[in-house]
This record gives sequence, structure tokens and C-alpha cells, in this order.
Amino acid sequence: MPAHVLVLGGTTEARELAAALAAHPGVRVTSSLAGRVSRPGALAGRVRIGGFGGADGMAAWIRDHHVTAVVDATHPFARSVTRNAAEATRATGIPLVVLRRPGWQPGPGDRWHLVASQTAAAGLLPELGRRVFLTTGRLGLAAYAHLTDLHFVLRSVEPPQPPMPPRLTALLARGPFTVPEETALLREHRIDVLVTKDSGGTATAAKLTAARHLGLPVVVVRRPPLPDGVSAVPDVPSALALLDLPAQ
Ligand code: NAP
Repeated sequence: MPAHVLVLGGTTEARELAAALAAHPGVRVTSSLAGRVSRPGALAGRVRIGGFGGADGMAAWIRDHHVTAVVDATHPFARSVTRNAAEATRATGIPLVVLRRPGWQPGPGDRWHLVASQTAAAGLLPELGRRVFLTTGRLGLAAYAHLTDLHFVLRSVEPPQPPMPPRLTALLARGPFTVPEETALLREHRIDVLVTKDSGGTATAAKLTAARHLGLPVVVVRRPPLPDGVSAVPDVPSALALLDLPAQ
């Protein structure tokens, strides 16, 4: 039976990994998506969509579909699915590779405020400005709903839903974004402060450069920790190497 790799996806790296795995003749690849985005785009190999029903459900899926290895290439802030993958691979005795793009690092001139949660980010905002560019996604919006005096410009892939702050302009867009685009956006909306998760990667990093050029403060929400005993590799070639599959 050929190897069957389950890639837990929803990221650019997961898409690249699925393509690299699909190029290996002896490997079957299934990408799994949560189903949050209505038009996820084409992926190499098979695709399944929707939750597994927790760690037990994922373990059952692994057994039923003869999965031989799991790569968790989910977003650094997708905490539950990562915990479930650790439990499910332990229970089924197959290898788990966690692929996480490295986080962003502040450079000279950056005015970063590192916080542990979106609640903490919301707590800082009133002292940093009145017009906020929020790039933390539509799902964490409730943390800012009580800030009725501030104006938020939210950028997200899907439209936001309540609870959310009353003064909010929603911009629906998907990266990558360039520094000139981000600079123009910050100027056009007269932004005082930017809020971001430490997602890492290049597709959405331009806003940090634009904020630096304009001297704006940035509230950066730190990543949640990986489960105990789990470590991550930073890129697709390292993930392939751990699976014993050289890049082709
Ligand atoms: P989460 O809190 O870890 O996941 C919540 C539940 O959604 C999981 O328990 C699981 O349901 C299901 N799920 C999540 N990822 C899945 C996947 N790849 N395949 C099948 N089921 C999945 O994650 P989240 O923050 O809601 O993110 C959901 C997805 O969006 C992830 O795949 C992630 O890569 C992507 N994403 C997240 C962010 C972010 O900022 N959080 C940003 C960009 C993309 P069951 O327990 O029922 O299995």
C-alpha cells in the first residue's frame, strides 16, 4: 500500500507541501480544510473539508483511511487542531510533523507592543490611538466589541459578524499585499495603530514595513505555545526531509 499523508491545511505552506507530496509517485496526499473559507482554491491531491469531531474523530479517520503520517501545516494560531493532531497521532502510533512558518521579528524603528491575547491587545488600544487597522481576522472581533469610541478598519477574507465594535469599516481582501498598497491604506484610513497576530510569512508582512515607515505603533499578538513534547519545522523542505521524502 502506498504512503498516505494527511496534511492539515489552511495555509500557503500546506498548499505547497500538498503539491510537493503529490509529485512523489509512491505517496497519496489528502489535504484537510476546516471549511472556514468559501472558495479555498485548488489543491494538489485529494481534499476533505470540515472538522473530524475532535482528536478521537481524527484518530478514527486516520485508521479508516490508512494514513501513514500526518503533517500539521495549519496556521500558527489554530490551536485546537494542533492539539488534536498530537493526540490522534499518539493514539494511532503514526508520525506527526508540525510545519510552522517562523514568526516575525521587530527591526530598527519598529514600535511593537507584544501581547498574549486579543483581549490584551484590546486593553492597550485606547492609549495608542483612535483609528485602528485590525488584521487579526474576523473571528476574534468580539474582544474589541466594547471599544465603542474607537474606529476600526477590519481586513478579512470573509465578511465579519457580530459581536463586533460598532464603528467598523470592513475591507474584504486576501493577501499578498505590497508595501505601497499597505502604506496607501494606512494613510487613506488615517490609521493610528495596527493590530496583528504574529502569523509570520511574507504574504502579509508588508503592513509591518508600512507601519514602520509611517512611525505607527503595532500591537502584535504572540503565538500560542505548541502542545507539550511537540516541536515544529520551519519550511516545506524540512517537513519532506522528516517524512523521508526528498524534494523533487
Ligand atoms: P482551531 O481553533 O484549531 O480549530 C477549531 C476546529 O476546527 C478544530 O477543532 C477542528 O474541528 C476544525 N479544524 C481546524 N482546522 C482544520 C483542518 N485543517 N481540517 C479539519 N478540521 C479543522 O483552528 P482555527 O483557528 O479555527 O482555524 C481553522 C483553519 O483555518 C485552520 O485549518 C487554519 O489553518 C486556518 N487558518 C486559521 C487562521 C487563524 O488565525 N486562526 C488564519 C488563517 C488560516 P474538529 O475538532 O471537529 O476536528
